[in-house]
Amino acid sequence: MQVKLPYGKRELIVDVEWSERKRFSITVKPDLTIIAKAPVGCDTESIHRRLRKRAAWIARQVNYFKQFQPLQPERKYISGETHYYLGRQYRLRIRKEQKSSVKLKGRFFEIKLPDPSDRKKAKELMLGWYSSHAKNLLDNRLRKHLPYFLKLGASEPEIRFRRMKKRWGSCKDNGVIMLNTELVKAPLYCIDYVIVHELCHLIFPHHEGKFYRLLKRLLPDWEKRKERLERVVI
Ligand SMILES: [Zn+2]
Repeated sequence: MQVKLPYGKRELIVDVEWSERKRFSITVKPDLTIIAKAPVGCDTESIHRRLRKRAAWIARQVNYFKQFQPLQPERKYISGETHYYLGRQYRLRIRKEQKSSVKLKGRFFEIKLPDPSDRKKAKELMLGWYSSHAKNLLDNRLRKHLPYFLKLGASEPEIRFRRMKKRWGSCKDNGVIMLNTELVKAPLYCIDYVIVHELCHLIFPHHEGKFYRLLKRLLPDWEKRKERLERVVI
């Protein structure tokens, strides 16, 4: 069941699940999903009441996790706009040309297309450029770090790439590592942090002491890299 919980000018969407547990609980996850677990038999009215009581706390949690998410200004895909690659800014330059293409040229992203005012097409070209560069680069970085983890006893992971809005990467229990293709907008040392972090999960699935000790051994300055990543604009 989904509950829309008004809070100030916002509306918080809560997924309510019923569980065998006796206590009512609310969790806000880093991807900003809000999950409430209600004991079996708990009626809708008392669920709403409990959620209203905790609304301020839920909103605070959501705000807390929001700061760790990539910054996403609205993109217009017009000349002069700033776009990022490996932590550097490039200006968009759109030219009229029969054959469509995208190239990095000096400090510019140069897009050529038949109708320079066609923003939808410009966006499509840019996304295509990012996604193909991301797959190559992320795969390369991952291959560079992987042998160490295989020696530690990890089994070969399955790597998937996807454009995501809310997280940089994930590692599932079944050994699937998912990397956000938007990572190529971040500096290389931030990219390496995300990759090494996810690879450490092949050895220790949870964020426990042993996990952080391994991460620290490989990247003594991982906290600095993480902080920088939080300021990346995608
Ligand atoms: Zn993690």
